[in-house]
Amino acid sequence: MNNSDAHHEWITGKGALTIAGTKVELEITVPAKPVRATRMLPVFQQLTNAVVKVGVSNAEATGAQISCTKGCGACCRQLVPIAESEAYLLRELVEAMPEPRRSMIRNRFAAAKEKLQSSGLWQQLLSPGELSTEARRQLGLTYFQEGIACPFLEEESCGVHPDRPLACREYLVTSPAENCAAPSAETVQCVVLPGSVSRIVQTLTATRGVNWLPLVLALDWAAAHPDQSPARSGPEWLQIVFQQLTKQ
Ligand code: SF4
Repeated sequence: MNNSDAHHEWITGKGALTIAGTKVELEITVPAKPVRATRMLPVFQQLTNAVVKVGVSNAEATGAQISCTKGCGACCRQLVPIAESEAYLLRELVEAMPEPRRSMIRNRFAAAKEKLQSSGLWQQLLSPGELSTEARRQLGLTYFQEGIACPFLEEESCGVHPDRPLACREYLVTSPAENCAAPSAETVQCVVLPGSVSRIVQTLTATRGVNWLPLVLALDWAAAHPDQSPARSGPEWLQIVFQQLTKQ
């Protein structure tokens, strides 16, 4: 990081990060003063996009093509893991929406909750971090079978695309799009990424021993748990994330 504005509130820096042998040039602007992770999410999103770009270009170098297109929202019925910080951001996003959109989105969250409660899945989703890997996989399958669309899905496209969670950014496939309607390990080929910023942020910003939350819980969870996450300066946040990313 090398430049700052006159008031030293933001720092912009250029640098290169080597991810799985690929050099990624980045220009990033971060807050100079300590902020909670939620305020860093635009930066983490930018970083995720850079890592995804490496994964996509590696996949394309083998002749594969990305099948994901606007209007295909099959993956938006999966159990999407988000970080606590992302739950706060999504809640802020919904609160800032004009009516009647705000009520419409809230109602979709409420309808999804009702369906999950009646199928008995809601309780399991409240503490997913306690599940074993196999139980989590099974929960993901059962959740998908419920066919609950993400409350932000509109006409099979993401209604919050610029602000979508990190995990959504990282999910891309090279198998035929129609296979995503009934995904299995054999029929769906996901783009392999050299690192996962979403997982780092989920773990790094977890304050209650829960590494991740299902997106469908975001509004309820953020309303019930005031943000008590630690504040760090932008460069400090980046240093930690970069270290973990290069280790991955
Ligand atoms: S936030 Fe957007 S991309 Fe992510 S699951 Fe929901 S609709 Fe799909």
